[in-house]
Amino acid sequence: RGSNLKYKRLLLKLSGEALMGKQTYGIDMSVADRLARDIAEATSSGAEIAVVIGGGNIFRGLSGAAKGMDRATADYMGMLATVMNALAFQNALDHRGVAARVLSAIPMPTVCESYVRPKALSYLAKSQVVLFAAGTGNPFFTTDTAAVLRAIEMNCDAVLKATQVDGVYSADPKKHPDAKRFDRLSYAEVLANDLKVMDGAAIALARDNGLPLIVVSIEEPGNLLKVLRGEARQTIIEA
Ligand code: UDP
Repeated sequence: RGSNLKYKRLLLKLSGEALMGKQTYGIDMSVADRLARDIAEATSSGAEIAVVIGGGNIFRGLSGAAKGMDRATADYMGMLATVMNALAFQNALDHRGVAARVLSAIPMPTVCESYVRPKALSYLAKSQVVLFAAGTGNPFFTTDTAAVLRAIEMNCDAVLKATQVDGVYSADPKKHPDAKRFDRLSYAEVLANDLKVMDGAAIALARDNGLPLIVVSIEEPGNLLKVLRGEARQTIIEA
């Protein structure tokens, strides 16, 4: 099982907005279900899937700070938002018959398990899906950085950053129809041109650890399995 896969263990980064669907706030469970189906397909083909979920559909530290809130406090609220998303997504996976664990970087033992690296590794080895919640557990970071950090800790083969378009472009293709699309980029090109892939800290951490980043659309059902097989239309960022 899994021997026909290009990537065996993958970390999927879902932004909070990915769970929002066409709504302007919160979680659309039909979108969560569609994503859960993609993950079910991936795990039954032998892949091991870890997920980091953002919280931007509920709360962002920066917007709290813009309203006069202390930034660190607002960031803790943002991290709590990611826990809500992780619980909702675990539920969606559960309904699809996929065993999934929520591991929070901020301990909240009556709600979910706490992040302990060996525990997470053993779940993945048993083909259970691991949902990393509460980002890195630290304010002033993002869930993109958390995704790269956990992927390195879990010895993942790559991070898949799910977006609404089929890769990285020189400008937003929805606003600039003539924007150039890239099949491959180096970390240095992403950083030097300030391409909107992930924040700089996440890109630098991936670069320093040689972790490939794959940018792909998840609007299209079945794309996760295509990435695992090396067949997706995507942008890969590597050295
Ligand atoms: N956050 C944080 N530390 C982390 C990860 C997240 O403080 O390690 C907070 C931060 O306020 C952020 C919010 O959680 O705005 C939600 O995460 P993010 O903005 O990365 O979510 P996404 O854009 O992926 O939906």
